[in-house]
Amino acid sequence: MTGFTYRNGVLCADSVSLSVLADQIGTPFYVYSETRLRENYAAFYEPLKDLNPLIAYAVKANPNLAVLRVLAACGAGADATGAGEIERAAEAGIDPRKIIFSGVGKTREEIAAALKLGVLQFNCESLPEIEALSAVAQSLNLVAPIALRVNPNIAARTHYKLATGEMGVKFGIDAVQLPDAMALIRRLPALAFKGFQVHVGTHLFDYGNFRDSYAKLAEMVRFWRGEGFSIERLDLGGGVGIPYDGQTQAPFAEYAAIVHETVGDLGCELAFEPGRRLVGDAGVLVSRVVYDKRGASKRFLILDAGMNDLIRPAMYEARHGILPVKESAAEAEAADVVGPICETSDLFGEAYLLPGVDQGDLVAIQQGGAYASAMSSNYNGRALVPEILVSEDTFRIVRRRISVREQMGWEEA
Ligand SMILES: *Cc1c(COP(=O)(O)O)cnc(C)c1O
Repeated sequence: MTGFTYRNGVLCADSVSLSVLADQIGTPFYVYSETRLRENYAAFYEPLKDLNPLIAYAVKANPNLAVLRVLAACGAGADATGAGEIERAAEAGIDPRKIIFSGVGKTREEIAAALKLGVLQFNCESLPEIEALSAVAQSLNLVAPIALRVNPNIAARTHYKLATGEMGVKFGIDAVQLPDAMALIRRLPALAFKGFQVHVGTHLFDYGNFRDSYAKLAEMVRFWRGEGFSIERLDLGGGVGIPYDGQTQAPFAEYAAIVHETVGDLGCELAFEPGRRLVGDAGVLVSRVVYDKRGASKRFLILDAGMNDLIRPAMYEARHGILPVKESAAEAEAADVVGPICETSDLFGEAYLLPGVDQGDLVAIQQGGAYASAMSSNYNGRALVPEILVSEDTFRIVRRRISVREQMGWEEA
């Protein structure tokens, strides 16, 4: 069994019981399924295989070294938003020639380090960044492989905080400024133009967003080839969504078909930057119910995990699935599931039906592999929770609990 399924009435990660894990580790903790990670990679890669794609995993979704190592072993490269993620990717054994350096605010120091390491390409997002890249490369006597992240002005149908491809957001070079950017690249020394990138948002459910932006990309390739640029690589970004609580999604094959249809015959190498799609459903956050609080008008299940451990509900109004660890046929009474943090927004969601879940019981918050532990904090004097990697019937602690005592050691008083 892979991923998260009930066995003999207990929710398991692969074949490891979450209840047994909770007894050994203490709650809350994240647990990831190695087999699910591998399956997710294969599910992304296989339908695109004929295009010989580079799957540059978006490290920010889950930067745990053990997770990176699993994906690296599958053949993944990395999409990094900064020097720290490049350092992690390299540490996990990802070849620098498979690392894409993204992000709107690369510092000159970060650029220099990435040039020396020999990353595959820099995705540039502004005119001053192009100038900085050229200057740093020239000073090091190196040539920088550059791609332009283009803002195709597409209103991606996702949460507004997750949309990155419209006019007026900070990301990408606005299409109207592309001629200036291309002229700059032609003029400046120490730059080797590779191609374009688009990433119009994250958690996109409607593959039509991709059809629109990839079609624009194909138009750009034809146009700029006509202007004498050689365009060898297209980076199609990330953003493929996954189902959260109770959602259903069109098969991934439809996404792959759109890729083939829009950019499959341009003769470009293709790179992809999936994050959530590879890791999102490969993890859960296991937590214990501290109190079953029956207020005057509402029932609350108060967990020992909070918004500091998983901020997506508070930040993006995301509704993650929640499962009882012990399967039950009891009738469920709706409850708001909340954490212990002193914020009203510390709410995982309203009106969950969790049969048989009582004070002291365990729950698993699903879709806990992406933008979950990665976005956690120690707000409210909290420990950073452990991360466990399960492989079939064995488990490993791949990040131990970072206690408050240890955190205080980072400070001077
Ligand atoms: C966040 C991000 C990704 C990954 O997005 P997912 O929705 O997790 O696939 C890819 N590329 C860039 C540039 C990003 O900022």
